[in-house]
Amino acid sequence: MLTGSCLCTVNKYTIINKDAAVFRKIICHCARCRKISGEYTTTNIVVPKTSFKLTRVSKWPSLVPGLLKSTHTFNAVLPDDKHGHICFCSHCGSVLYRESEMQGMRGLIFVPVGTLDDIDSVSDLRKEEWY
Ligand SMILES: [Zn+2]
Ligand SMILES: [Zn+2]
Repeated sequence: MLTGSCLCTVNKYTIINKDAAVFRKIICHCARCRKISGEYTTTNIVVPKTSFKLTRVSKWPSLVPGLLKSTHTFNAVLPDDKHGHICFCSHCGSVLYRESEMQGMRGLIFVPVGTLDDIDSVSDLRKEEWY
């Protein structure tokens, strides 16, 4: 089992069945990923939706004025199906996961590796580069 959270830890998640065939790391160089992350690339682990569970635990004041709501996440839907919808923490603004709408990738969740509690736990995962 893997665990992770957003920056402020209001939103936590667990990933079960780490060894399922679908698990891999994708390093993406596309323009959209650069905008999402503010970096040259993003690195996400790919997880079946059925293996990913979002849990919400603590109370934390919003780091983003106006974003504190009764729910702890909000989704941005991008016009390209490759990136599908992006789930952000509504308290700190961190990206928690993305859900692909792309043909052949439906039902998969992309989780930024930087949100994992133990980043070394995925060091052995197969890598793919996307452009
Ligand atoms: Zn947060
Ligand atoms: Zn991308």
